[in-house]
Amino acid sequence: MDEDRRREDEWFQKNERQLLESARLARQKREQERAAREKTAELQRLKALHLMRCPKCGHAMQEEELQGVKVDRCSHCEGIYFDAGELDQVLMKKEEARKGFFKKLVKI
Ligand SMILES: [Zn+2]
Repeated sequence: MDEDRRREDEWFQKNERQLLESARLARQKREQERAAREKTAELQRLKALHLMRCPKCGHAMQEEELQGVKVDRCSHCEGIYFDAGELDQVLMKKEEARKGFFKKLVKI
C-alpha cells in the first residue's frame, strides 16, 4: 500500500514537473514572438520617422545626382549624406573626376 502511494506521488511529481516545463517553454516562446513583433514594429516606426531626414537636424533630405553618384543633401543645414557604397564610387573615380565631383558638391 505504501509502495503504491509512493509510486503515485512520484508519478504526480514527475507529471507536475513536465507540466511546469511545458508551461515555461510555451511562455518563453510567446515572449520571443512578442519581442520579435515589437522589434519589427519599432523598426518600422523608426524608419518612417527617419527616412530621408537629416541625421543632424531632422529636416528633409533631397537627392542629387552628381557624376552618376546619388547623394542626399539636407534642405535646411546643407549637410550631405552618402548611402553605403556611394563614397566608394567617388573614391574609385580618377583624380580629375574626383576633384570635379567635390567641386560640384560645394554649392556656391
Ligand atoms: Zn540638416
